[in-house]
Amino acid sequence: MSRAAPIADRATREWQELDSRHFLHPFTDFKALAAEGARIVTRAEGAYLYDSEGRQILDGMAGLWCVNIGYGRKELAEAAYRQMQELPYYNSFFKSANPPAIELARVLAGLTPPQFSRAFFTGSGSESNDTIVRMVRRYWDLMGEGGRKVIISRHNAYHGSTMAGASLGGMSAMHSQGGLPIPDIVHIEQPYWFENGTDVSPAEYGVRAARRLAEKIEEIGPGRVAAFIGEPIQGAGGVIIPPETYWPEIQRICRHYGILLIADEVVCGFGRTGRWFGCEYFGFEPDLMTLAKAITSGYQPLGAVMVSDRVADVLVEKGGEFFHGYTYSGHPVACAVALANLAILRDEGLVDRVREDIGPYLQQRWRDLGEHRLVGEARGVGMIGALELVAHKGTRTFFRNRGEVGLICRDHCFANGLVMRAVRDTMIISPPLVLSRGQVDELFEKAWRCLDLTARDIGLS
Ligand SMILES: *Cc1c(COP(=O)(O)O)cnc(C)c1O
Repeated sequence: MSRAAPIADRATREWQELDSRHFLHPFTDFKALAAEGARIVTRAEGAYLYDSEGRQILDGMAGLWCVNIGYGRKELAEAAYRQMQELPYYNSFFKSANPPAIELARVLAGLTPPQFSRAFFTGSGSESNDTIVRMVRRYWDLMGEGGRKVIISRHNAYHGSTMAGASLGGMSAMHSQGGLPIPDIVHIEQPYWFENGTDVSPAEYGVRAARRLAEKIEEIGPGRVAAFIGEPIQGAGGVIIPPETYWPEIQRICRHYGILLIADEVVCGFGRTGRWFGCEYFGFEPDLMTLAKAITSGYQPLGAVMVSDRVADVLVEKGGEFFHGYTYSGHPVACAVALANLAILRDEGLVDRVREDIGPYLQQRWRDLGEHRLVGEARGVGMIGALELVAHKGTRTFFRNRGEVGLICRDHCFANGLVMRAVRDTMIISPPLVLSRGQVDELFEKAWRCLDLTARDIGLS
């Protein structure tokens, strides 16, 4: 390892200049970033990031919802090092397989709910959702119901950024670029009680929002609908946690019409809610699951589709060749790293810790932030949370120019050593599952201070 060429050691200004000259970032206004200069993150340990100026930042987002076991775990580095020497790459196309991919498929079959015994590997969450679109339509073809093509999703959902992923997603800004959505993908209301349920209790609203699915199926024609897809908790859309009545009603409707139910578990999977998967937290049984992000805690790019026996048996028995796959499907190094990550989650009891110890503590402190005069609602589950910033406490009055106050708050967080993200005026967190109680307190204190600074900036004091 000592012979590996090190990355050059440059000053921050030099990195920023090279960055803006050569590197087009995802989801970025290129010109605005070039004027400001990127934050250069150089290393990380546990729940902390360090930038090129040596500043320490508490990572309230676990990277991008993925670093569940925290940064700096040598076991994953060693797994990658070992596997790269043994077999750095081989494809799984032409009747070939490799031990880490087979072993990971076996472990996932054991960890996921009982209806799942098979995995299809991809390189990301987006690729997994692309795979699902093709797999679902192929399933219905093989069933002799090729007219079932339509997949129903929700407004403000996030399912990735490829053509199919962004189409399944319900982000209007994304649809406005590149001619999306692709045909036969439609969207219904999201289960966002704080915004849409002002006249009813959460329980009543959950059922009402779920019934939008039945209305849409009837509108399209039940014989044309293939599947419904949803994140158990919407992550990028602003940590939207549906009322507990929502998912059981969605499942009832899917079963009534015989359509497939898909859970996009890319954020909720691998312990975020205090259960291994979000569908277990809400008590429903999907036919397909999208996995990515925390499957490796972000240490390697990897995604997977879990395929229930209902679907897999048809693909296998009636199938013939499924003309789909990726060069990196079942990548041995990514799979070896995933195995090391899952071993840590399991052996260190991190999922139970979220359910019984650190999750409840985080939620208690998070609810305390709800006392702040800027906050209209503080909600959360396990190690995920959202704060709704409102113009008048005690009401659900949003700020007139939505999104502006959230960005002010986010910038204060960055400047004060905390990563907390803003979605419109909703502040969100999704920290590593390994946070200590002291770090939860640190998160609370920094967040409160930044809410104060934000209130001061907008003349609310
Ligand atoms: C991040 C995310 C995706 C996309 O995953 P990528 O690895 O970025 O392609 C899909 N679904 C959900 C719910 C996500 O949060």
